[in-house]
Amino acid sequence: MTNVQTCVKAGPGRVALARIDLPDPGPGQVMIRTTLSTICGSDLHLRDDFPELPAGLPMGHEGVGIVEAVGSGVERFKRGDRVVSCCLQSCGTCEECKTVDPCVCSTHGAPMNLIFGAQGEAFMVGSADHTLAKIPSSIRDREALLVADVLSTGFGAIERAGVKPGQSVAVFAQGPVGLSATLGAKYYGAEPLIAVESVPARVAIAKRLGATHVVDPANAVQEILAITDGKGVHVAVEALGKQQTFENCCRAVRFGGVVSSVGVYGGIPALSLPTDGTFFHRTIVTTFCPAGTRRMQQLLELIDRGRIDPSPLVTHTMKLGDIVAAYDIFAARKDGCVKIAIEP
Ligand SMILES: [Zn+2]
Ligand SMILES: [Zn+2]
Repeated sequence: MTNVQTCVKAGPGRVALARIDLPDPGPGQVMIRTTLSTICGSDLHLRDDFPELPAGLPMGHEGVGIVEAVGSGVERFKRGDRVVSCCLQSCGTCEECKTVDPCVCSTHGAPMNLIFGAQGEAFMVGSADHTLAKIPSSIRDREALLVADVLSTGFGAIERAGVKPGQSVAVFAQGPVGLSATLGAKYYGAEPLIAVESVPARVAIAKRLGATHVVDPANAVQEILAITDGKGVHVAVEALGKQQTFENCCRAVRFGGVVSSVGVYGGIPALSLPTDGTFFHRTIVTTFCPAGTRRMQQLLELIDRGRIDPSPLVTHTMKLGDIVAAYDIFAARKDGCVKIAIEP
């Protein structure tokens, strides 16, 4: 048993620091001593939109650290390894892991296969052999942290839409996932690459990551049509999770194009499709976070080889002791905040 300080849900809309006991790792599990974690948009949904989630729930599903203790049967990791954990656990052996994607692992009960407690001094991960990846020594914690969730999710939005070089892409909202989708679209050769955003700090990062155009959300559809000779884009990415943005994506996509949705739509019980002319001849794909060791290794390799640089996403660094304030800064997008690196 190890007693650690961790950020927990304190009640609807509130988080707090608390001391919790972590058990010794069981079969397949490891305990990771956290060196860096961060707050995700879905943490805000867990905090605010699900009153049924109990107080005391350990928060945080994006973390890097050093393996502290290893349970029986873990073969690929040992004490002292520097690792990043995927935000979703996967067993690597069930039908879904083998034939669909580890993110829908049935052994770990997807979509509830999230890890919990990364916003703590240490946290537990199950099926470690398939959920963790070692971090190459050339990559800093603050970049490795991004492959745990947002970079994989943002790249996934582009990959599932089948973006090919020279196709036009619009990414609606440049939060952490939207910016990652912009980086992914750039990597896969999108042109033009249109970012939909009005917050100046996020506009600046979108341009750094490769956006060729930035348009205001208020008249995004008209501006995207103007940029694409009235046709619309091949792919529109919904990275905000709002009905209006989803509709705008449908209206900004050309015939034969793809609406690629990665918004979480927290607090929205149902999403409706516009049935005007923009309803026809479109493909709609939804993506969660592509998961598993191999997926993270691929993204780490792109960073290691200098093919992508996600570092502009980490705008703030704070201490775990200040995490309640960090949640407020993140939620309010204060001071150009995109991602906060939380040090233990
Ligand atoms: Zn997340
Ligand atoms: Zn599985």
